[in-house]
Amino acid sequence: MLITTVSSLRNRLSDLANQDKKIGFVPTMGALHEGHLSLIERAYKENDIVVVSIFVNPTQFNNLEDLEHYPRTLEKDMELLSKKFHSILLFYPDFNEIYPKEDPFVPIDLGNLDTSLEGKHRPGHFKGVVHVVHNLFKIVRPNRAYFGQKDFQQVAVIRFMTKRYDFSIEIVACETKREQSGLAMSSRNMRLSAVEKDEALIIWETLNFVKQNKQNYQPDELKNRAVDFFNSGKLKLEYLEIVDAESLSEISNWNFEAVCCIAAYCGKVRLIDNLLF
Ligand code: AMP
Repeated sequence: MLITTVSSLRNRLSDLANQDKKIGFVPTMGALHEGHLSLIERAYKENDIVVVSIFVNPTQFNNLEDLEHYPRTLEKDMELLSKKFHSILLFYPDFNEIYPKEDPFVPIDLGNLDTSLEGKHRPGHFKGVVHVVHNLFKIVRPNRAYFGQKDFQQVAVIRFMTKRYDFSIEIVACETKREQSGLAMSSRNMRLSAVEKDEALIIWETLNFVKQNKQNYQPDELKNRAVDFFNSGKLKLEYLEIVDAESLSEISNWNFEAVCCIAAYCGKVRLIDNLLF
């Protein structure tokens, strides 16, 4: 069921909440793929009702071209959802519904989360993510919200903001869905040619290189070798970092659960991926 206004969504949901039905929420920017569907499937299993939102949030784009070229495929998304699930509430608001004149949002300081990795390379990105998710949480008021580990730092940011704003919402992190080749599924992959998709595999190969060589090198040496490995491919590396999976700070030994995060350009398309190890 397609719902475009906050008031009609609230009407639907308040009845259900009164009946003590559990609401699962999956925020997306649309152009749905198997990765999104895996989040929705999980939400479907664990709740009585599932709200999926599709909103291409301009405030989290720091690059106008990326925003303009972001795929928008509402018809196809609706078809995909109705084939796989019955009774999903699809929330498809416009800008003014999410960002009303009387916006209740009060920004918070994200500290290290906003200055490392994606935060460092996409200034303002997480401020935009926090703003939209805050407003969506206020609108949907779910019991659980589902996010993909593909956006590893985003999950950390969402957990942080959920605490800071005191939302009583369980944040569920779901594993990354990949093509058979290993390429992480992403709406942006639609913009890649077949050749570029092949070239983009260097991301997954490098993540595995890092994992396989953990025993052989200290983190900084491994990072250098991984960058060399990556640069043997065709993509343009933006960053490759090996950090503590909890704090996202750099590590100098292996006493932490580590995550390797990569961002790179395949032509004009920016791709990210990560692997815990
Ligand atoms: P997006 O539409 O790209 O904003 O993504 C919406 C949600 O789907 C986010 O929580 C993403 O982390 C998640 N997601 C995107 N790609 C994948 C994937 N390949 N596997 C699992 N979750 C994903």
